[in-house]
Amino acid sequence: MFKSVVIFIGPPGVGKGTQASLLADAFSIPKFATGDLLREALKNNTPLGIEAKTYMDSGKLVPDQLVLDLIKGKIAKIPNGIGFILDGFPRTLHQAEGLDVILSSLCHNVGLAIEFSMDEEERIVRLTGRRLCPNCQRTYHILFAPPKKDSLCDYCSVELVQRADDNEDVIRKRSVIYWETTKPLLEYYRQKNILMKVDASSSIENVFSRIKQIFSELN
Ligand code: ADP
Ligand code: ADP
Ligand code: ZN
Repeated sequence: MFKSVVIFIGPPGVGKGTQASLLADAFSIPKFATGDLLREALKNNTPLGIEAKTYMDSGKLVPDQLVLDLIKGKIAKIPNGIGFILDGFPRTLHQAEGLDVILSSLCHNVGLAIEFSMDEEERIVRLTGRRLCPNCQRTYHILFAPPKKDSLCDYCSVELVQRADDNEDVIRKRSVIYWETTKPLLEYYRQKNILMKVDASSSIENVFSRIKQIFSELN
């Protein structure tokens, strides 16, 4: 059984969501991506979604307390001792400390933080070509991971969409926020001796193999 809590940290477009989905399937573990959860809240017009929208559209981080409450609700439903992946959370030091408090109340702790790293211009190519299934949230890429048929999701046959925040202007803003606000988290996890760095610039399959190898050495 997979018992670790694993965190994915890296700038937008580096491939966190893609790998989180592959690993969740391969190891039969839950994964939570705060971006996906916020987009779902927005789609359902919940008060949280409505409040988050202006931040997301402009590429700013949603206030810490909103994401902490959101993630707390998800983690609380997981049976004790079962591991899971957090993709895109925490993104600030305050969120990381909040996560530690939530986990310790459940006798859990973060076992591994993976830093995804790659060159900025290549990330922009990934993000501008990214497409999303609005139904199941699966991610595609027009060149690197195209759907089997036209622009339809392989699983739902629903027309793929482009995220409103995947335009070059907002992408650059999100990247700046990553370097200024999220990158300091790496030091937080390095000091706990649980930080691993992965070269995210190679193919989806290569990155997947590397992370599977790291996972197999856990627990
Ligand atoms: P993140 O969650 O870090 O923002 P995604 O997983 O959504 O990144 O990936 C961004 C885009 O790049 C998507 O369109 C995805 O299909 C594509 N992608 C992900 N990993 C790779 C890779 N290793 N090589 C090429 N394209 C990739
Ligand atoms: P990416 O795939 O490009 O890394 P995400 O889908 O993770 O982007 O996030 C999209 C947007 O959702 C962010 O720009 C931000 O507005 C909001 N968001 C997601 N996760 C968090 C978080 N942990 N804290 C604050 N805002 C978040
Ligand atoms: Zn789908």
